[in-house]
Amino acid sequence: MTETSNSQDARVSFQELKSLLTSIFVNNRTSSETADILAENCAACERDGALSHGIFRVPGYVDSLRSGWINGLTVPDVVRLGPSFIRIDARNGFAQRALASANPLIRRTVRDTGIAIIATRNSHHFSALWPDVEPFALAGFLAITAVNGLANVVPCGGRKAVYGTNPIAFAVPVHDADPLVVDQATSVMANGEVRLHALADKPVPDGTGVDRAGNPTTDPHAILAGGALNTFGGYKGSSIALLVEILAAAVTGGQFSFENDFTGFAGAQTPKAGQLLVVIDPDWGRSTNFASRIALLCTQLVDAGQDRLPGERRFTNRAAAGQFGIPIAADDLQRLRMLAGEDL
Ligand code: NDP
Repeated sequence: MTETSNSQDARVSFQELKSLLTSIFVNNRTSSETADILAENCAACERDGALSHGIFRVPGYVDSLRSGWINGLTVPDVVRLGPSFIRIDARNGFAQRALASANPLIRRTVRDTGIAIIATRNSHHFSALWPDVEPFALAGFLAITAVNGLANVVPCGGRKAVYGTNPIAFAVPVHDADPLVVDQATSVMANGEVRLHALADKPVPDGTGVDRAGNPTTDPHAILAGGALNTFGGYKGSSIALLVEILAAAVTGGQFSFENDFTGFAGAQTPKAGQLLVVIDPDWGRSTNFASRIALLCTQLVDAGQDRLPGERRFTNRAAAGQFGIPIAADDLQRLRMLAGEDL
Protein backbone atom coordinates (compact mmCIF):
# COMPACT_ATOMS: atom_id res chain seq x y z
CA MET A 1 0.00 0.00 0.00
CA THR A 2 2.90 2.42 0.63
CA GLU A 3 6.66 2.62 0.30
CA THR A 4 7.14 1.87 3.98
CA SER A 5 5.80 -1.67 3.58
CA ASN A 6 8.98 -3.42 4.60
CA SER A 7 7.88 -5.28 7.68
CA GLN A 8 7.23 -9.00 7.99
CA ASP A 9 4.37 -10.42 5.98
CA ALA A 10 1.13 -11.19 7.70
CA ARG A 11 -1.30 -13.71 6.22
CA VAL A 12 -5.01 -12.99 5.88
CA SER A 13 -7.88 -14.99 4.47
CA PHE A 14 -9.74 -13.69 1.43
CA GLN A 15 -12.85 -13.12 3.53
CA GLU A 16 -10.91 -11.20 6.20
CA LEU A 17 -9.34 -8.92 3.60
CA LYS A 18 -12.64 -8.44 1.76
CA SER A 19 -14.40 -7.53 4.98
CA LEU A 20 -11.74 -4.91 5.87
CA LEU A 21 -12.00 -3.40 2.40
CA THR A 22 -15.80 -3.37 2.53
CA SER A 23 -15.67 -1.37 5.76
CA ILE A 24 -13.17 1.08 4.26
CA PHE A 25 -15.40 1.74 1.25
CA VAL A 26 -18.55 2.04 3.38
CA ASN A 27 -16.68 4.52 5.63
CA ASN A 28 -16.00 6.59 2.53
CA ARG A 29 -19.36 7.40 1.00
CA THR A 30 -19.99 4.08 -0.72
CA SER A 31 -23.22 2.06 -0.56
CA SER A 32 -22.93 -1.37 0.99
CA GLU A 33 -23.72 -3.05 -2.34
CA THR A 34 -21.01 -1.15 -4.23
CA ALA A 35 -18.56 -1.56 -1.32
CA ASP A 36 -19.03 -5.32 -1.45
CA ILE A 37 -18.35 -5.41 -5.23
CA LEU A 38 -15.24 -3.21 -4.97
CA ALA A 39 -13.91 -5.12 -1.97
CA GLU A 40 -14.33 -8.46 -3.75
CA ASN A 41 -12.50 -7.06 -6.78
CA CYS A 42 -9.65 -5.46 -4.82
CA ALA A 43 -9.16 -8.48 -2.52
CA ALA A 44 -9.14 -10.80 -5.54
CA CYS A 45 -6.37 -8.72 -7.17
CA GLU A 46 -4.30 -8.91 -3.99
CA ARG A 47 -4.95 -12.66 -3.64
CA ASP A 48 -3.93 -13.34 -7.26
CA GLY A 49 -0.75 -11.25 -7.03
CA ALA A 50 -2.17 -8.59 -9.38
CA LEU A 51 -0.53 -6.18 -6.97
CA SER A 52 -0.76 -3.01 -9.05
CA HIS A 53 -4.55 -3.22 -8.55
CA GLY A 54 -4.84 -4.70 -5.06
CA ILE A 55 -4.60 -2.87 -1.73
CA PHE A 56 -2.05 -0.52 -3.30
CA ARG A 57 -5.08 1.22 -4.86
CA VAL A 58 -6.98 1.81 -1.61
CA PRO A 59 -5.68 5.37 -1.00
CA GLY A 60 -6.63 6.29 -4.58
CA TYR A 61 -10.15 4.92 -4.14
CA VAL A 62 -10.53 6.76 -0.84
CA ASP A 63 -9.20 10.07 -2.19
CA SER A 64 -11.48 9.92 -5.23
CA LEU A 65 -14.52 9.14 -3.07
CA ARG A 66 -13.72 11.82 -0.49
CA SER A 67 -13.18 14.46 -3.18
CA GLY A 68 -16.66 13.85 -4.60
CA TRP A 69 -15.16 13.10 -8.05
CA ILE A 70 -16.86 9.71 -8.07
CA ASN A 71 -20.24 8.79 -6.64
CA GLY A 72 -20.06 5.64 -4.49
CA LEU A 73 -23.77 5.82 -3.71
CA THR A 74 -25.12 5.95 -7.25
CA VAL A 75 -27.17 3.24 -8.96
CA PRO A 76 -26.36 2.51 -12.62
CA ASP A 77 -28.97 2.69 -15.36
CA VAL A 78 -29.00 -0.53 -17.44
CA VAL A 79 -31.05 -0.70 -20.67
CA ARG A 80 -31.32 -3.48 -23.29
CA LEU A 81 -31.75 -1.47 -26.51
CA GLY A 82 -31.77 -4.29 -29.04
CA PRO A 83 -31.68 -8.09 -29.04
CA SER A 84 -27.99 -8.10 -28.08
CA PHE A 85 -27.13 -4.51 -27.27
CA ILE A 86 -27.03 -3.27 -23.68
CA ARG A 87 -26.20 0.28 -22.77
CA ILE A 88 -25.24 1.27 -19.24
CA ASP A 89 -24.97 4.74 -17.81
CA ALA A 90 -22.88 4.21 -14.67
CA ARG A 91 -24.01 7.63 -13.43
CA ASN A 92 -20.52 8.63 -12.35
CA GLY A 93 -20.07 5.42 -10.37
CA PHE A 94 -17.71 2.48 -10.58
CA ALA A 95 -17.60 0.33 -13.73
CA GLN A 96 -17.59 -2.84 -11.60
CA ARG A 97 -20.88 -1.88 -9.98
CA ALA A 98 -22.36 -1.17 -13.42
CA LEU A 99 -21.25 -4.55 -14.73
CA ALA A 100 -22.52 -6.39 -11.66
CA SER A 101 -25.93 -4.74 -12.03
CA ALA A 102 -26.13 -5.87 -15.65
CA ASN A 103 -24.76 -9.38 -15.05
CA PRO A 104 -28.07 -11.31 -15.03
CA LEU A 105 -29.25 -9.44 -18.15
CA ILE A 106 -25.93 -10.07 -19.93
CA ARG A 107 -26.12 -13.82 -19.28
CA ARG A 108 -29.77 -13.94 -20.37
CA THR A 109 -28.93 -12.01 -23.55
CA VAL A 110 -26.05 -14.35 -24.44
CA ARG A 111 -28.27 -17.37 -23.84
CA ASP A 112 -31.06 -15.82 -26.00
CA THR A 113 -28.99 -14.46 -28.89
CA GLY A 114 -25.49 -15.94 -28.67
CA ILE A 115 -23.89 -12.55 -28.05
CA ALA A 116 -24.15 -9.51 -25.80
CA ILE A 117 -22.50 -6.15 -26.44
CA ILE A 118 -22.33 -4.00 -23.33
CA ALA A 119 -21.43 -0.33 -23.73
CA THR A 120 -20.83 1.45 -20.43
CA ARG A 121 -20.28 5.20 -20.13
CA ASN A 122 -19.94 7.70 -17.33
CA SER A 123 -17.97 5.09 -15.34
CA HIS A 124 -14.72 4.89 -13.38
CA HIS A 125 -12.40 1.88 -13.74
CA PHE A 126 -9.51 1.78 -11.28
CA SER A 127 -8.74 -1.94 -11.31
CA ALA A 128 -7.53 -4.85 -13.40
CA LEU A 129 -9.79 -6.07 -16.20
CA TRP A 130 -9.49 -9.82 -15.68
CA PRO A 131 -12.23 -9.85 -12.98
CA ASP A 132 -14.61 -8.46 -15.64
CA VAL A 133 -14.02 -11.28 -18.15
CA GLU A 134 -12.89 -14.37 -16.22
CA PRO A 135 -16.36 -15.21 -14.78
CA PHE A 136 -17.82 -15.38 -18.31
CA ALA A 137 -15.12 -17.85 -19.39
CA LEU A 138 -15.93 -19.95 -16.33
CA ALA A 139 -19.52 -20.03 -17.64
CA GLY A 140 -18.29 -21.31 -21.05
CA PHE A 141 -18.36 -17.97 -22.89
CA LEU A 142 -15.73 -15.86 -24.63
CA ALA A 143 -15.48 -12.33 -23.22
CA ILE A 144 -13.41 -9.42 -24.49
CA THR A 145 -13.28 -5.95 -23.01
CA ALA A 146 -11.58 -2.59 -23.46
CA VAL A 147 -11.35 0.38 -21.09
CA ASN A 148 -9.91 3.86 -21.64
CA GLY A 149 -8.57 6.08 -18.85
CA LEU A 150 -6.54 9.19 -18.09
CA ALA A 151 -4.40 10.71 -20.82
CA ASN A 152 -0.92 9.54 -19.85
CA VAL A 153 0.25 7.76 -23.01
CA VAL A 154 1.71 9.41 -26.13
CA PRO A 155 0.73 8.12 -29.57
CA CYS A 156 3.69 6.68 -31.49
CA GLY A 157 6.11 9.51 -32.33
CA GLY A 158 4.09 12.02 -30.30
CA ARG A 159 5.20 14.27 -27.44
CA LYS A 160 1.87 14.84 -25.75
CA ALA A 161 -0.38 12.33 -23.96
CA VAL A 162 -3.64 11.51 -25.74
CA TYR A 163 -4.46 7.93 -24.72
CA GLY A 164 -4.91 6.30 -21.36
CA THR A 165 -3.00 3.12 -20.65
CA ASN A 166 -6.10 1.67 -22.34
CA PRO A 167 -6.12 -1.97 -21.24
CA ILE A 168 -7.73 -4.84 -23.10
CA ALA A 169 -8.58 -8.26 -21.71
CA PHE A 170 -10.12 -11.45 -22.99
CA ALA A 171 -10.96 -14.81 -21.49
CA VAL A 172 -12.01 -18.16 -22.92
CA PRO A 173 -12.83 -21.54 -21.39
CA VAL A 174 -10.29 -24.37 -21.69
CA HIS A 175 -11.54 -27.94 -21.42
CA ASP A 176 -10.41 -29.58 -18.17
CA ALA A 177 -8.27 -26.57 -17.14
CA ASP A 178 -8.41 -23.03 -15.83
CA PRO A 179 -9.65 -20.51 -18.38
CA LEU A 180 -7.17 -18.70 -20.60
CA VAL A 181 -7.18 -15.06 -19.47
CA VAL A 182 -5.15 -12.29 -21.07
CA ASP A 183 -5.23 -8.84 -19.45
CA GLN A 184 -2.82 -6.10 -20.44
CA ALA A 185 -2.33 -2.39 -20.80
CA THR A 186 -1.66 -1.11 -24.32
CA SER A 187 1.08 1.08 -22.86
CA VAL A 188 4.57 -0.39 -22.46
CA MET A 189 3.85 -0.55 -18.73
CA ALA A 190 0.70 -0.10 -16.64
CA ASN A 191 0.61 3.20 -14.73
CA GLY A 192 0.35 1.32 -11.42
CA GLU A 193 3.64 -0.41 -12.26
CA VAL A 194 5.32 2.97 -12.92
CA ARG A 195 4.07 4.14 -9.53
CA LEU A 196 5.48 1.01 -7.88
CA HIS A 197 8.84 1.73 -9.57
CA ALA A 198 8.68 5.34 -8.34
CA LEU A 199 7.95 4.21 -4.78
CA ALA A 200 10.94 1.88 -4.94
CA ASP A 201 13.05 4.56 -6.71
CA LYS A 202 13.80 2.07 -9.46
CA PRO A 203 14.34 3.15 -13.09
CA VAL A 204 11.94 1.79 -15.70
CA PRO A 205 13.33 0.04 -18.81
CA ASP A 206 14.44 2.03 -21.87
CA GLY A 207 11.53 2.94 -24.12
CA THR A 208 8.94 3.04 -21.33
CA GLY A 209 8.11 6.73 -21.51
CA VAL A 210 8.94 10.39 -21.92
CA ASP A 211 9.38 13.36 -19.57
CA ARG A 212 7.21 16.48 -19.61
CA ALA A 213 9.23 17.89 -22.55
CA GLY A 214 8.56 14.74 -24.58
CA ASN A 215 12.13 13.42 -24.25
CA PRO A 216 12.75 9.70 -23.58
CA THR A 217 13.37 8.90 -19.90
CA THR A 218 13.80 5.90 -17.62
CA ASP A 219 12.94 7.97 -14.51
CA PRO A 220 9.49 6.87 -13.23
CA HIS A 221 9.15 10.17 -11.31
CA ALA A 222 9.59 12.14 -14.57
CA ILE A 223 6.97 10.00 -16.32
CA LEU A 224 4.51 10.60 -13.47
CA ALA A 225 5.30 14.34 -13.12
CA GLY A 226 3.82 15.55 -16.40
CA GLY A 227 5.57 13.02 -18.63
CA ALA A 228 3.86 10.08 -20.30
CA LEU A 229 4.19 6.42 -21.24
CA ASN A 230 4.72 4.98 -24.71
CA THR A 231 2.35 2.47 -26.27
CA PHE A 232 3.67 -1.08 -26.70
CA GLY A 233 4.81 -2.23 -30.12
CA GLY A 234 5.52 1.08 -31.86
CA TYR A 235 2.91 2.31 -34.35
CA LYS A 236 1.07 -1.03 -34.32
CA GLY A 237 0.52 -0.91 -30.55
CA SER A 238 -0.38 2.77 -30.91
CA SER A 239 -3.20 1.77 -33.26
CA ILE A 240 -4.48 -0.78 -30.74
CA ALA A 241 -4.57 2.00 -28.10
CA LEU A 242 -6.49 4.06 -30.67
CA LEU A 243 -8.97 1.21 -31.15
CA VAL A 244 -9.50 0.98 -27.38
CA GLU A 245 -10.11 4.73 -27.21
CA ILE A 246 -12.73 4.41 -29.98
CA LEU A 247 -14.45 1.34 -28.49
CA ALA A 248 -14.42 2.41 -24.85
CA ALA A 249 -15.08 6.13 -25.28
CA ALA A 250 -16.69 6.80 -28.66
CA VAL A 251 -18.88 3.68 -29.09
CA THR A 252 -20.09 3.93 -25.50
CA GLY A 253 -20.71 7.68 -25.54
CA GLY A 254 -18.15 8.08 -22.75
CA GLN A 255 -15.28 10.51 -22.30
CA PHE A 256 -12.02 10.34 -24.22
CA SER A 257 -9.00 9.91 -21.97
CA PHE A 258 -7.88 13.49 -22.70
CA GLU A 259 -11.26 14.84 -21.56
CA ASN A 260 -10.70 14.02 -17.89
CA ASP A 261 -10.50 17.21 -15.87
CA PHE A 262 -9.92 16.95 -12.12
CA THR A 263 -10.29 20.68 -11.50
CA GLY A 264 -12.12 21.16 -8.20
CA PHE A 265 -11.56 17.55 -7.09
CA ALA A 266 -8.25 17.63 -5.22
CA GLY A 267 -6.72 14.19 -4.74
CA ALA A 268 -9.08 12.41 -7.16
CA GLN A 269 -7.40 9.58 -9.05
CA THR A 270 -9.97 7.33 -10.72
CA PRO A 271 -10.26 7.90 -14.47
CA LYS A 272 -13.74 8.76 -15.69
CA ALA A 273 -14.02 6.82 -18.89
CA GLY A 274 -15.97 4.06 -20.60
CA GLN A 275 -15.90 0.31 -21.13
CA LEU A 276 -16.95 -1.92 -23.98
CA LEU A 277 -17.55 -5.60 -23.24
CA VAL A 278 -18.51 -8.30 -25.73
CA VAL A 279 -19.62 -11.72 -24.51
CA ILE A 280 -20.12 -14.57 -27.00
CA ASP A 281 -21.40 -18.10 -26.55
CA PRO A 282 -19.21 -19.89 -29.11
CA ASP A 283 -21.37 -23.02 -28.93
CA TRP A 284 -24.63 -21.14 -29.47
CA GLY A 285 -26.96 -22.90 -31.89
CA ARG A 286 -24.39 -25.58 -32.74
CA SER A 287 -21.56 -27.08 -30.73
CA THR A 288 -18.09 -26.07 -31.90
CA ASN A 289 -16.36 -27.98 -29.08
CA PHE A 290 -14.91 -24.58 -28.34
CA ALA A 291 -13.30 -25.34 -24.98
CA SER A 292 -11.67 -28.51 -26.38
CA ARG A 293 -10.37 -26.59 -29.39
CA ILE A 294 -8.87 -23.96 -27.09
CA ALA A 295 -7.29 -26.74 -25.02
CA LEU A 296 -5.64 -28.02 -28.21
CA LEU A 297 -4.40 -24.51 -29.02
CA CYS A 298 -2.95 -24.13 -25.51
CA THR A 299 -1.15 -27.48 -25.82
CA GLN A 300 0.42 -26.26 -29.05
CA LEU A 301 1.60 -23.05 -27.37
CA VAL A 302 3.22 -24.96 -24.51
CA ASP A 303 4.74 -27.55 -26.89
CA ALA A 304 6.12 -24.69 -28.98
CA GLY A 305 8.01 -23.47 -25.92
CA GLN A 306 5.91 -20.57 -24.62
CA ASP A 307 7.05 -19.94 -21.02
CA ARG A 308 3.57 -20.22 -19.60
CA LEU A 309 -0.01 -19.42 -20.45
CA PRO A 310 -1.43 -15.97 -19.66
CA GLY A 311 -3.39 -16.08 -16.41
CA GLU A 312 -1.40 -19.05 -15.09
CA ARG A 313 0.63 -16.95 -12.64
CA ARG A 314 -2.56 -15.62 -11.04
CA PHE A 315 -4.14 -19.05 -10.75
CA THR A 316 -0.99 -20.36 -9.06
CA ASN A 317 -1.02 -17.43 -6.61
CA ARG A 318 -4.72 -17.97 -5.98
CA ALA A 319 -4.19 -21.61 -5.09
CA ALA A 320 -1.32 -20.71 -2.74
CA ALA A 321 -3.41 -17.98 -1.08
CA GLY A 322 -6.22 -20.47 -0.58
CA GLN A 323 -3.83 -22.77 1.23
CA PHE A 324 -1.61 -20.35 3.18
CA GLY A 325 -3.56 -17.07 3.18
CA ILE A 326 -2.85 -13.84 1.31
CA PRO A 327 0.56 -12.37 2.17
CA ILE A 328 0.37 -8.71 3.23
CA ALA A 329 3.03 -6.56 4.87
CA ALA A 330 2.08 -6.21 8.55
CA ASP A 331 2.18 -2.41 8.46
CA ASP A 332 -0.12 -2.35 5.41
CA LEU A 333 -2.56 -4.59 7.24
CA GLN A 334 -2.45 -2.23 10.21
CA ARG A 335 -3.20 0.75 7.94
CA LEU A 336 -6.15 -1.11 6.42
CA ARG A 337 -7.49 -1.89 9.90
CA MET A 338 -7.21 1.77 10.87
CA LEU A 339 -9.04 2.88 7.72
CA ALA A 340 -11.68 0.25 8.41
CA GLY A 341 -12.17 1.80 11.85
CA GLU A 342 -11.15 -1.30 13.78
CA ASP A 343 -9.95 -0.89 17.36
CA LEU A 344 -6.24 -1.72 17.37
P1 NDP B 1 1.39 -7.68 -17.64
O1 NDP B 1 2.33 -7.21 -18.67
O2 NDP B 1 1.92 -7.99 -16.30
O3 NDP B 1 0.63 -8.99 -18.14
C1 NDP B 1 -0.12 -8.94 -19.33
C2 NDP B 1 -0.69 -10.30 -19.65
O4 NDP B 1 0.37 -11.15 -20.11
C3 NDP B 1 -1.33 -11.03 -18.46
O5 NDP B 1 -2.43 -11.73 -18.92
C4 NDP B 1 -0.21 -11.96 -18.00
O6 NDP B 1 -0.69 -13.13 -17.34
C5 NDP B 1 0.43 -12.33 -19.32
N1 NDP B 1 1.84 -12.69 -19.18
C6 NDP B 1 2.81 -12.04 -18.50
N2 NDP B 1 4.00 -12.66 -18.66
C7 NDP B 1 3.76 -13.73 -19.46
C8 NDP B 1 4.58 -14.77 -20.00
N3 NDP B 1 5.89 -14.83 -19.74
N4 NDP B 1 4.00 -15.69 -20.80
C9 NDP B 1 2.68 -15.65 -21.07
N5 NDP B 1 1.85 -14.70 -20.58
C10 NDP B 1 2.39 -13.75 -19.81
O7 NDP B 1 0.14 -6.65 -17.51
P2 NDP B 1 0.17 -5.06 -17.61
O8 NDP B 1 1.29 -4.57 -16.77
O9 NDP B 1 0.10 -4.63 -19.02
O10 NDP B 1 -1.21 -4.70 -16.92
C11 NDP B 1 -1.36 -4.95 -15.53
C12 NDP B 1 -2.77 -4.72 -15.10
O11 NDP B 1 -3.09 -3.35 -15.16
C13 NDP B 1 -3.84 -5.41 -15.94
O12 NDP B 1 -4.63 -6.18 -15.06
C14 NDP B 1 -4.65 -4.28 -16.54
O13 NDP B 1 -6.04 -4.55 -16.67
C15 NDP B 1 -4.45 -3.21 -15.51
N6 NDP B 1 -4.70 -1.88 -16.04
C16 NDP B 1 -5.86 -1.24 -15.67
C17 NDP B 1 -6.13 0.03 -16.15
C18 NDP B 1 -7.40 0.72 -15.82
O14 NDP B 1 -7.60 1.84 -16.27
N7 NDP B 1 -8.30 0.16 -15.07
C19 NDP B 1 -5.18 0.72 -17.03
C20 NDP B 1 -4.05 -0.08 -17.39
C21 NDP B 1 -3.81 -1.32 -16.91
P3 NDP B 1 -0.67 -13.20 -15.70
O15 NDP B 1 -1.84 -12.35 -15.27
O16 NDP B 1 -0.85 -14.65 -15.41
O17 NDP B 1 0.65 -12.67 -15.26
